[in-house]
Amino acid sequence: MRKYLLLLGFVITSQINVLAQKPATPASSKIYESIQKLNFLGSVLYVAAHPDDENTRLIAYMSNHIKARTAYLSLTRGDGGQNLIGPEIRELLGVIRTQELLAARRVDGGEQIFSRANDFGYSKRPEETLSIWDKEQVLSDVVLAIRKFKPDVIINRFDHRTLGTTHGHHTASAMLSFEAFDLAANKTAFPELLEYTSTWQPKRLFYNTSWWRYGSQEKFDEVDKSNMTSFDIGVYYPLKGLSNNEIADIARSQHLCQGFGRLSQRGSQKEYIEFIKGEKPEGDDIFSGIDTSWSRIKGGNAIGNILYEVENNFNFTNPSTHLPQLIKAYKLLQNIDDQHWKTIKTQELKHIIEMCAGLYLEASASTPAIATNNSVKIEIEALNRSTSNITLKSINISPLNQQENTDISLQNNKKFTYTFNSIIPKNIATTNPYWLNEKGTLGMYKVNDKTIIGNPETKRALQANFVLDFDGYTINFEKDVIYRYSKPDKGELYRPFEIIPEASAKISEKVIIFNNNKQQDISVIVKAERDNLEGHVEICHPNDWSVYPKNQKVSIKHKGEEQTLVFTVIPPKNESEGFISPIVHVGDKSYTKELIDISYEHIPHQTVLLPSESKVVRLDIKKRGENIAYIQGAGDVVPESLEQIGYNVRIIKTEEITAELLSNFDAVVVGIRAYNTLNALDFKQQTLFDFVAKGGNMIVQYNTSHRLKTKQLAPYKLKLSRDRVTDENANVTFLNPKHEVLNFPNKITQQDFDGWTQERGLYFPSDWGKEFTPILSMHDKNESPKNGSLLIAKHGKGYYIYTGLSFFREFPAGVSGAYRLFANMLSLGKKDLKLEAKLND
Ligand SMILES: [Zn+2]
Repeated sequence: MRKYLLLLGFVITSQINVLAQKPATPASSKIYESIQKLNFLGSVLYVAAHPDDENTRLIAYMSNHIKARTAYLSLTRGDGGQNLIGPEIRELLGVIRTQELLAARRVDGGEQIFSRANDFGYSKRPEETLSIWDKEQVLSDVVLAIRKFKPDVIINRFDHRTLGTTHGHHTASAMLSFEAFDLAANKTAFPELLEYTSTWQPKRLFYNTSWWRYGSQEKFDEVDKSNMTSFDIGVYYPLKGLSNNEIADIARSQHLCQGFGRLSQRGSQKEYIEFIKGEKPEGDDIFSGIDTSWSRIKGGNAIGNILYEVENNFNFTNPSTHLPQLIKAYKLLQNIDDQHWKTIKTQELKHIIEMCAGLYLEASASTPAIATNNSVKIEIEALNRSTSNITLKSINISPLNQQENTDISLQNNKKFTYTFNSIIPKNIATTNPYWLNEKGTLGMYKVNDKTIIGNPETKRALQANFVLDFDGYTINFEKDVIYRYSKPDKGELYRPFEIIPEASAKISEKVIIFNNNKQQDISVIVKAERDNLEGHVEICHPNDWSVYPKNQKVSIKHKGEEQTLVFTVIPPKNESEGFISPIVHVGDKSYTKELIDISYEHIPHQTVLLPSESKVVRLDIKKRGENIAYIQGAGDVVPESLEQIGYNVRIIKTEEITAELLSNFDAVVVGIRAYNTLNALDFKQQTLFDFVAKGGNMIVQYNTSHRLKTKQLAPYKLKLSRDRVTDENANVTFLNPKHEVLNFPNKITQQDFDGWTQERGLYFPSDWGKEFTPILSMHDKNESPKNGSLLIAKHGKGYYIYTGLSFFREFPAGVSGAYRLFANMLSLGKKDLKLEAKLND
């Protein structure tokens, strides 16, 4: 079917660890920078709505220049967007974008936080956004993020005062942050969160303004900036050999599924933030009035005295000489009362100790994934690359309670290895993005464990704890168990180690359309994650549908192998829809999930478990015409969907289009954004219009007016606009109820607009020639009626149809009304055709 050409480019510099999977190999400069950061006690929280909203220039600047602990709170994981590098959409796209954000943060030095809000698609106004999200829950999550992260400074990407000027999610993110700024300090607000965190009052709130807020650079130059703070985010870091903006661009280029791979920029560049509330800063110091030194915390001075000394006299050629000082500071840190700073600085300091000692601590599993009740070898490697006196007291694998009391002195550069033979217990949870474990709503993920809300990802299943003794003082180092392997054409590779179910099943098609009474065979693919899997598979189905055989035996010899079982599905006589789902029974256990692998080079490998199900739709659909030519634009599954309702569809290339070729078809359908993506289609317009004049039908799906590559989109005047109806339940009025397209061969009623998904449509024309008949009217709340969603013009003997209705979204969701309306569009003017494909006959 669709082919995805994947060309991923990587910028790898010695200072930036782009590949998450590989352990870092910190050079002295990196250790020194970590010490600088350790000695700065201040933090910044950046707030926006989506993966890609964040200003990586500012995050990189805060983290690397100011040395502040910096985080990006993205309210959503970006499920609602499009994927330019692969087939994953919706929640799977959210998984990719989560990882792309984490990849960006590994580059720019920030941390990543989320809320439970789900990116449900485009929203025009924040009021609408906040009615689809559960406003109280998202606000609670923002308050939680502030109480946990305890930022001194919050910077909003968007303006909370300009409602309706950008995506509703954007403005909503700023409004919630504005509100949470005060609520976080109020112990009567969201008191339930205080069970595992404490109140916090950030010092000040900013809005990350820019010239585009004012329309142009010239206008922005004239604006009074007394309320603004600015930074030169083009600073150069000799320790990295990179400019701040270069780092920012490498970070931004991690958003590959959004096509953000970009050239890097260098040189001075200004960035502005506007003061919104809290205590106004003095000059350009956003931390003014905040003690960001160790004296900020009680007992901190003594720690600072040691650590500033390490920073000021850092030994770049042999950082391990600082280990005694670092251990001393570590001991003092364990005695301070401030739990917040103690936790953060302990982690940082521990990591610095590890780096200074040149420690290499790794736990690598013998397989990337395993089912419970099976055994796995875990290879331990521990290496001290310093002359310091370090003893490996013990290693244990949690949560397996497997421990080896090694008690061995780690001699300089003498590798210690050990192998655990571990059985994965029955009760251990399978690996899955935690926010997908429970079924959520359109606007919210459901997360039962309150303590993990906000976490970017699920904690890995197994950890190895290395208990090390530094001259009589014990420090624990925890490492995720990973899987290390190599490929001849790629070199050494890493991926997370995962726990997966012993059996999973999927149906090859996600939507199966039955346009008549005929039964159809479906393929169920069962995958084994252990050797000798024996069991049987049954299919759950709605009552009015039947499936046979009732169950089938499954028998798979080797782990990783699949077996395909064919079942026959018999639809009911009347229109009906529902879901069918396979269940694999193995012994006394049942498995109902589908296992999805997401594999790209720029993010760690991900496996996702989702309920295994396919939608079955029995349609009562009549149609005329048989053969359709399809011109693919930006990519959609409309051709496959039309084939499902019985059309012969051939995908044709622009250069193939000739009058002779077109004479073989009843209709030509143009895929979404074809006139934005195909340069040469403009030259074929006359040929296509001539085809219509001779009696063919031409259906053009949505394009954007921006970057339209033709001046003659239609044979008559047709002007595109940005009109869209984002409410998928918006009322639809029939402007021309007697028009053939609403009556033949299928009678279209209001019911056909039930159950639509994500939106009604987008980029409707706003102005058209008198030859066009507008068929439908619809609009979002508080907006004027939009009549351009479906426009039909008779041209010669055929019909030219332009539609911004989102058929490309409705077809894959199995929305029957969308199929019926499209069949009518294809059948226009073919009432007299003797060649009737009335499928019920
Ligand atoms: Zn956005």
